[in-house]
Amino acid sequence: MTANTKNSILIVGGGLIGLSIAYEFARNDFKVSVLSKNRSESAGFVAAGMLATHAEGLEHELLKFGQQSQRLIPEWIKNIEQDSGIECGLRKCGIVVPFTNMKDLRKFPTYKYGKYLSQKDLKNEISGINSIWKHGLVFEEDGQIDNRRRLMRALERACSLHGVQFQEGSEVKDLTIEKNKIIGAKVLNATGEIKDLRCEKAILCSGAWSKAVLNKIPVFPVKGQMLSIQGPSNFLKRVLFGPDTYLVPRDDGLIIVGATVEKDSKFNQGNTPNGIKQLQKGIWSLLPEAMNWPQMEHWWGFRPCTPDFKPIIGKSDIENLFLATGHYRNGVLFSAITSDIIFKFIQDKTLSDSEISFLEKFSLKRFEI
Ligand SMILES: Cc1cc2nc3c(=O)[nH]c(=O)nc-3n(C[C@H](O)[C@H](O)[C@H](O)COP(=O)(O)OP(=O)(O)OC[C@H]3O[C@@H](n4cnc5c(N)ncnc54)[C@H](O)[C@@H]3O)c2cc1C
Repeated sequence: MTANTKNSILIVGGGLIGLSIAYEFARNDFKVSVLSKNRSESAGFVAAGMLATHAEGLEHELLKFGQQSQRLIPEWIKNIEQDSGIECGLRKCGIVVPFTNMKDLRKFPTYKYGKYLSQKDLKNEISGINSIWKHGLVFEEDGQIDNRRRLMRALERACSLHGVQFQEGSEVKDLTIEKNKIIGAKVLNATGEIKDLRCEKAILCSGAWSKAVLNKIPVFPVKGQMLSIQGPSNFLKRVLFGPDTYLVPRDDGLIIVGATVEKDSKFNQGNTPNGIKQLQKGIWSLLPEAMNWPQMEHWWGFRPCTPDFKPIIGKSDIENLFLATGHYRNGVLFSAITSDIIFKFIQDKTLSDSEISFLEKFSLKRFEI
């Protein structure tokens, strides 16, 4: 591939963020190539798909970032659905956060955005909820999207219909830099050859593996194990988000149960007996009768985490190399705003004050001070 036209973009990583950005550029007539080391390891195929700005208790700029992304998501998804012909399962179903006592509820960072639920209201909202929960908050603006089965595939299809060139099994081993400007990459392809690719501009979207591409990016993996259970259709109408475990009901009764948070996991593959036990204990603590529902699938993946849990978005110190990584627990939620801002930024389009502020707060520079 020689990407020698002015409007060509090389994307390193075909996960959720890489695909979202590829889609934005491709639908605006750019020539886009996506290099993907391994599609199936992408956290985009792992996540629960919650759009949980408020239920996650985000604060400060992350809260604003999430709220702004949530405003963009309906239109963004409508476009992806139209272009791909695949319905993505976006539902503003609301998320219920239960508490054992009022003190914890009042301390919850996004408390003021929720509607208070007494224990009786909680039981009305979530039939069968464990009686340890005495109070709750429902965040009606929050919701979910079916990322694993639909959004990822819809993005791939929409991208490819807009002409994006995918290269699966292609790992960037090194970036080719001349006079502090990116001019290409050395890529190990699926047939085992190392190829020199040229590019005009590149965007690093390599998720938890970003440090291997550019060592100064302080991203590390935080493993999460998940499972799904098959419940009765429409039994759970809202997401139930406990302190250690959450239950995310899809519209066909499949319930996604997540997730362990394993900070020292490195890239250790696979589900573990302890991980599954922890999820089962979590199911019991939220909805005891769901312990009897059949388990359908177990899986795991790696969240791209940074030292301050905030993403890294914008410039690198190499000319024409841009960064969109480190989205940690909220990459599904943040994908719409990330692709929007990166597109405008690279295109030198006018940015709003809040977008400029996000780029400052999420710049790589903050780790160099
Ligand atoms: C258990 C779990 C639950 C989650 N739940 C939610 C949720 O409910 N809501 C939410 O908003 N977020 C959630 N997330 C977070 C979300 O999944 C991530 O933030 C998001 O997927 C990150 O997207 P990404 O594109 O940066 O990384 P990924 O989706 O992981 O994609 C990175 C891709 O880059 C490729 N790559 C890496 N190195 C190279 C290289 N050198 N060359 C070429 N390609 C390369 C990889 O193979 C991979 O496919 C969850 C994550 C996990 C693990």
